[in-house]
Amino acid sequence: MLGVGVLKGLVETARNFFGSYVSEERLTTLQYPEETSPRIEASRSFPFLVYDGSDWQQGMRCVSCQICEKECPPKCIFIEKSPDKKPDAVGKMQFYPAKFDIDISVCMSCQICVEVCPFDAIKMDVDYNLSATNRFSDLLLDKERLSKSNEYYHEIHPTEAASVDADLAAAREKAAPKPAAPATAAVQTAGTGGAAS
Ligand code: SF4
Ligand code: SF4
Repeated sequence: MLGVGVLKGLVETARNFFGSYVSEERLTTLQYPEETSPRIEASRSFPFLVYDGSDWQQGMRCVSCQICEKECPPKCIFIEKSPDKKPDAVGKMQFYPAKFDIDISVCMSCQICVEVCPFDAIKMDVDYNLSATNRFSDLLLDKERLSKSNEYYHEIHPTEAASVDADLAAAREKAAPKPAAPATAAVQTAGTGGAAS
């Protein structure tokens, strides 16, 4: 019947309005900024760069491949490749970003940069309280301000970070030099074979 949907909506609104006087569950308004809602693991705000260990420059996972820069729809990532190389997260020598800026006043939080990064180097933050008065000094974030530790990543997205850690551990194991076969065993086998024939 025409209007039933509207009536149901009004009844739900009334239940929430009057219910909010007696039930905490129906209280949907918070006194921000004194009160904030609990953080949800799947929420996202703006990207940040992950680093391993305690030194953000040495531990930076980004290898400056510039895929994220090319794929970012509003073109708010600016990268300059380093002239030299350093070990990446699995120990291979790679370039790193001499410059890595994101203009978060332009970023639309689409997460495409995260999805295209083959090195798990860029992830979405959950910090949304970034209002500022000067766009260039406060909202154009350089690589130092963008860098956050893997521990922080675990704090905000524990499930995702644990899965990335497992993948990186497997990649490190694969990249690690294999121990050489013991030379004496080979010599002994050859010696035994020769004596028998
Ligand atoms: S979240 Fe989207 S808009 Fe923001 S930097 Fe990444 S790709 Fe660009
Ligand atoms: S964040 Fe990822 S995709 Fe972007 S330049 Fe660094 S390694 Fe490449």
